[in-house]
Amino acid sequence: MNIVYADNNATTQVAPEVLKEMLPYFRDLYGNPSSMHSFGGQVARKVKEAREKVARLIGAEPEEVLFTSCGTESDNTAIRAAIASNPEKRHIVTTRVEHPAVKNLCEYLARNGYRVTYLPVDRLGKVDVGRLEECLSDDTAIVTIMWANNETGVIFPIEEIARKVKEKGIAFHTDAGQAVGKIKVDLRKTPIDMLSLSGHKLHAPKGIGALYVRKGTKFSPFLIGGHQEGGRRGGTENVPSIVGLGKACELAGMRMGAETGRVRYFRDKLESSLLDRIPRAMVNGDREHRLPNTTSISFEYVEGEAILLMMNESGVCASSGSACTSGSLEPSHVLRAMGVPFTAAHGSIRFSLSVYNTEEDVDFIIAILPGIIERLRELSPYWKDSYKGDFWRDPTSV
Ligand code: PLP
Repeated sequence: MNIVYADNNATTQVAPEVLKEMLPYFRDLYGNPSSMHSFGGQVARKVKEAREKVARLIGAEPEEVLFTSCGTESDNTAIRAAIASNPEKRHIVTTRVEHPAVKNLCEYLARNGYRVTYLPVDRLGKVDVGRLEECLSDDTAIVTIMWANNETGVIFPIEEIARKVKEKGIAFHTDAGQAVGKIKVDLRKTPIDMLSLSGHKLHAPKGIGALYVRKGTKFSPFLIGGHQEGGRRGGTENVPSIVGLGKACELAGMRMGAETGRVRYFRDKLESSLLDRIPRAMVNGDREHRLPNTTSISFEYVEGEAILLMMNESGVCASSGSACTSGSLEPSHVLRAMGVPFTAAHGSIRFSLSVYNTEEDVDFIIAILPGIIERLRELSPYWKDSYKGDFWRDPTSV
């Protein structure tokens, strides 16, 4: 069966160019980059080159980039570094819609003596920047706010947020796991102290991430061990994956523009065709400030999991809410924070495309999904009695 993969915010395929660049570092070039001999030295040079490529994509200096094992480690390192370097401060500010890598750590810290303020979002998933200033105080150790949401694709005004936080002299971290590689990220223009990214979201392998730490930022390592990464992250480097991340960042920089435009065209075609063909369907989130590859659509009075299973039988891979939260039947915390009604939040599907999707992929989803929704609604006891209005198309009217 042909697979139509539309779940790229969960993970992406490794680009063939990335795999090719990695392979020698599994086979022949297996030296340790910390070794004194030249066999290790040639590997150290390749790690340096990869660091430069990551730095170039985000507008950083190479020394400001630390390699980690994943986006989750980067997020944990940033938040823990800020609180460890400001031990007298006991307050953290974040939002209600963060990825579990930030959300669950903040909840853990709240159980262990920290005060956490969760900024709300509105019906379109936009964060209230006005509320941010009100909650900053001398006790705030760090503000951590994602750049783009993994479920809805909504992009936050990170430059404005970072400026407001830095005016108060507070550390600012952003989880840019979904932003890097999809939209322009330039740290020369944005006063961010720390930024997390994850390799497998941009066609590098799973199990590699990076943390940007601006020069001069107070920092304390999370993994204490050897002198690797300038003493800021112990552990022998995952060389093949680091090489792969470097190549993936180089490719992402080259693809930003024309290829991202093609992804946006496919996403828009998918979204508008589904809204036209399926009654009582609505897009979750601000359609203007959104990642070019993502659409979260709610189909009222059907279960997202049932839709996924039926699409799966036709080879279509998508996600209901976040991949990390699927397995639980609770509607996603992101859609709940946005106030999406229960009947719609339950029937939400996230499609996330990549440069490897084709127009045929999109046409296939458009061809099969209306029939799937119709069949499921025939089985739904609520559907027949449901309200027949059409306000779902315009969430601002709710
Ligand atoms: N942050 C965001 C916004 C994500 O989407 C993800 C992955 O889903 C992560 C962090 C975690 O990244 P990783 O899977 O590399 O730990």
